[in-house]
Amino acid sequence: MNKTIAAIATPPGTGGVAIVRISGPDAFAVAAKISSVKKFDKNTIKPCVLFELNTKTVLDKGLLSVFKAPNSYTGENVVEINCHGSYYLTQKLLTEVLKAGAHLAEAGEFTKRAFLAGKLDLTQVEAVADTISAGSDLSLNLALRHLEGDVQQKIRQIRGEFLQILSEIEAALDYPDEIADPSPEKIRALLKNAQKTFAQLLEDSARGLLIKSGAVIALVGRPNTGKSSLFNALLKHNKAIVTATPGTTRDALEAEAQINGLRVTLVDTAGLRETQDAVEKLGVERSRAHLQTADLVLAVFDAASGAAAEDRKILEYLRGRPQLRVANKMDLSEKVDIPDIIPVSAKTGQNLDLLAAKILEKLDLRRVDFSKNIYISSLRQKDQLIRAAQILAKTLDALETVDYLDVLAPHLQGIVAVLGEITGDAVSDEIIEQIFANFCVGK
Ligand code: GDP
Ligand code: ZN
Repeated sequence: MNKTIAAIATPPGTGGVAIVRISGPDAFAVAAKISSVKKFDKNTIKPCVLFELNTKTVLDKGLLSVFKAPNSYTGENVVEINCHGSYYLTQKLLTEVLKAGAHLAEAGEFTKRAFLAGKLDLTQVEAVADTISAGSDLSLNLALRHLEGDVQQKIRQIRGEFLQILSEIEAALDYPDEIADPSPEKIRALLKNAQKTFAQLLEDSARGLLIKSGAVIALVGRPNTGKSSLFNALLKHNKAIVTATPGTTRDALEAEAQINGLRVTLVDTAGLRETQDAVEKLGVERSRAHLQTADLVLAVFDAASGAAAEDRKILEYLRGRPQLRVANKMDLSEKVDIPDIIPVSAKTGQNLDLLAAKILEKLDLRRVDFSKNIYISSLRQKDQLIRAAQILAKTLDALETVDYLDVLAPHLQGIVAVLGEITGDAVSDEIIEQIFANFCVGK
């Protein structure tokens, strides 16, 4: 029998409401000891008085949300105490709940219980964490799709197909006289199909991971082309110092923004020009590092002054890097003699929508469709998928041998095991521990 656990589910600090969550066989008994509610017969919300266990001193008036097993997040009896959002009060209340018999929950323990009760699979567990940390429309939509079970369903479906082949092979091996061998053609068709699915999932996982983590976009250009202005225009608020003196942005400046629903970290780099100034030199070095690691570089040119020798150097430096070329100050002029250049104006906002669309296109996120495709966004899931694909390749080789039925089974078992780890249908404690290690307390 599980012990009853409790934790504050809302973040520390002051707010309108805070929640202390209790889950386990004694959840109702614990709540009855510190509140005026004595009956916990069905899922309901009850107004109540909350008091200290021993002195019965009133602490607050609140609401109890009552969830009877198995109709709760964890599958156990759950009570959520809604109290006023003072962190001091909430902690006091938690102390009373612990005195009344509950144990302090570990990070992620509620969700772990939900997993162990079969309410969520591991892909959904990871989606819970992703939903909590989502900071953009796209990453939130993605997490919600995973929470709905798009990855889970797909992986379970493929795993089911492998189990089916495996059972046919094992039946044929066990009863060679009664049951016909499944033909290599039939098995090959199934394996090839799975191979395609794996490849597609792996390809789309690059998009999933980018959506989840956000893209780093570095702005580069010679001084005064309007990098800082563009940085601000994209941020839609003034975070960078905009100035008419060249070389003011000495160090890289970073800020988070959303571009068409994608979380991006914009980096306004210090530029790349040769300099003797020690501080500026450092900035230039950092700029170079940013330009090497960014998901996308925006090379900013000045439409008013046209392409200069320094601009050519920058283009040369960026060769081979994912980049978009931008001619800023199109309100003054549109003539910049550089191929594939997008005219914009940081000042008037002209073409910033076009630039946003081009950014998503360049990052290969223009045609993201959550209803059609599955974008795996967990490195763990991706790694396991890669392993499954590797075993699958070996399985296809094994199929070409004469005694293919004998050699195939262990390979197929390997794939089934790996896919089972993705969803948690067959998984080691170690993997479970690792996943829950990153959770917050109260979830
Ligand atoms: P940086 O050195 O590349 O970061 O350039 P800044 O953003 O500091 O801008 C340099 C100068 O160009 C400032 O005086 C800005 O007001 C001006 N500027 C920036 N963008 C535009 C634009 O789109 N149109 C016009 N007319 N001026 C701009
Ligand atoms: Zn600047």
